[in-house]
Amino acid sequence: MSSLLDSALRDVVGAAHVLVDADVRATYETDWLGQTHGTTPAVVRPGSAQEVAAVLGVCAAAGVAVVPQGGNTGLVGGSVPRGGAVLLSMQRCSSLSTVDTLSMQVTAGAGVTIEHLQQHARAAGLDFAVDWGARATATVGGAVNTNAGGSRVVRFGTMRAQVMGLQAVFADGSIVTQLEGLPKETAGPHLPSLLVGSEGTLAVVTAARLRLVPWFRATAAALVACDSLVDAVSLLPQLRQ
Ligand SMILES: Cc1cc2nc3c(=O)[nH]c(=O)nc-3n(C[C@H](O)[C@H](O)[C@H](O)COP(=O)(O)OP(=O)(O)OC[C@H]3O[C@@H](n4cnc5c(N)ncnc54)[C@H](O)[C@@H]3O)c2cc1C
Repeated sequence: MSSLLDSALRDVVGAAHVLVDADVRATYETDWLGQTHGTTPAVVRPGSAQEVAAVLGVCAAAGVAVVPQGGNTGLVGGSVPRGGAVLLSMQRCSSLSTVDTLSMQVTAGAGVTIEHLQQHARAAGLDFAVDWGARATATVGGAVNTNAGGSRVVRFGTMRAQVMGLQAVFADGSIVTQLEGLPKETAGPHLPSLLVGSEGTLAVVTAARLRLVPWFRATAAALVACDSLVDAVSLLPQLRQ
């Protein structure tokens, strides 16, 4: 990385948030499975959409690619930097709005972990529907960009069904904000439909307006023996009631 780029990145996010030490970079350069390895000249940790936009601008001007990363729990290597790309760690974008119990929605920064989001929702008597084993580390931004499913997907759907709006920064540095969370949003292109599941290839997600669900405080597991797969599937409508 040129000293010019290094200095421009430090100007944007502050020197403390441009990590170049090899030992520190190492955890960002290998995926959770330890199977995909890459290298990056720097891990950059922006704290806002404006800083993300400025980082993308600086990197674009220098002709350097950027790979966004959340909790780095993805299992297909999408968060690993390759070819000298700058690693954009989104963990500092971790603001959380007050839960709106009327609309049953909350706005979460891309770096908020799923576990923190669940705890925040439960403190207001609600819950976040998508749940899986990596909840303590996986982030909202990563979940949006992988269209995460998890253990309750049959009941509540994937992330796509939870995202009511997004804020995202595009490669030209433009910030698009659609965080109103209107259920009847019919005007213009639907940003979540474009970006959910795009693995960071189209934009950097900085925040999401998310649907919440009732918190099932008591749950029970039952082992039900069915004669066939068809029988098991036909049981589902009855169990939902
Ligand atoms: C133990 C374990 C269990 C798991 N179980 C499930 C499961 O049941 N269901 C499931 O769907 N997944 C599961 N996963 C996979 C993983 O946790 C999910 O894919 C999760 O959504 C990744 O989130 P992350 O924050 O770690 O994203 P990362 O791994 O950091 O990134 C994933 C992808 O999203 C991109 N990205 C990350 N943040 C942003 C952003 N802000 N803007 C743009 N692009 C971004 C990255 O570039 C990368 O392409 C599991 C993983 C583990 C380790």
